[in-house]
Amino acid sequence: MHPRNRHTGRYDFEHLTALLPKLKPFVAKNPYGDLSIDFANPKAVQALNQALLKSFYGTEFWDIPENYLCPPIPGRADYIHQIADLLAPHFGRKIPQGPQIKILDIGTGASCIYPIIAHGEFGWSVVGSEVDVTAYESAKKIVEKNPELSKVIELRKQTTQDAIFKTVIRKGEYYEASICNPPFHSSQEEANEGSRRKWENLGKFKQIEQATRNFGGHGGELWCPGGEVGFIKRMVQDSSTYQKQVRWFTSLVSKDSSLDAIYSAIHGAKVYDMKTLDMSQGQKKSRIVAWTWMKS
Ligand code: SAH
Repeated sequence: MHPRNRHTGRYDFEHLTALLPKLKPFVAKNPYGDLSIDFANPKAVQALNQALLKSFYGTEFWDIPENYLCPPIPGRADYIHQIADLLAPHFGRKIPQGPQIKILDIGTGASCIYPIIAHGEFGWSVVGSEVDVTAYESAKKIVEKNPELSKVIELRKQTTQDAIFKTVIRKGEYYEASICNPPFHSSQEEANEGSRRKWENLGKFKQIEQATRNFGGHGGELWCPGGEVGFIKRMVQDSSTYQKQVRWFTSLVSKDSSLDAIYSAIHGAKVYDMKTLDMSQGQKKSRIVAWTWMKS
């Protein structure tokens, strides 16, 4: 995890349950004698997220509809810290802070998670796009119910599945970075198989069926034509129209095997610079690919 990530230690369940009493019924001692929750129970993870967001970012209201992706906060915070490091060289080696720094989040999800963390950590303003109407409405509700967020987060509905920046970036707008956690499977079957493997790896054999159904995420959050390669290729292509409106275009890439095709799309777009930022959370490795047409 990033050295600045504030979610690296153990969760302080005593503090978190005091802050959010509804988390308490989900907390019990695990076989090692430590307080924990059952991470295969979506209601427990949702309550943990509510407590964490309240504790670290002052988010009073946070909720997601059933069956929608419940994001692990520590991993999402890592992406934001990587973006801060990517921007620092352009601001005299200091991380730029405050609402005048604008970030774009493509596919913000029902959770609105990146905008919340980006604002909570660095005070940035964020425009989030979302194609799924239920996810869009949910993110909107989170923003509207938190007065602080409604000043700095704006959500825009993407109406075309294949479009990424079109209709989202408006004339005259400028963003320091665009971030994205794209749907990474290429079909519902592949998504189901991926969730099944994840739960098997966690040793949660008994809960696999339920967890896959309730917690793994929902349709378009998990898959799109061509998987993450297809999505990011469309993003690269679309981004070249906005070379002067976004300093760094970035996306999470979950599979190592996707990189070659993505690099070749980026080279093909004749960018000025490209970077790969490695991330690891426990045993899970991922990376962010970033490209820009700007020289300074
Ligand atoms: N950012 C959230 C959600 C990621 S899941 C998180 O990290 O947890 C990917 C999201 O992208 C889904 O909510 C999906 O509906 C959305 N999406 C898919 N295609 C899109 C597009 N063309 N424009 C905007 N959002 C899109």
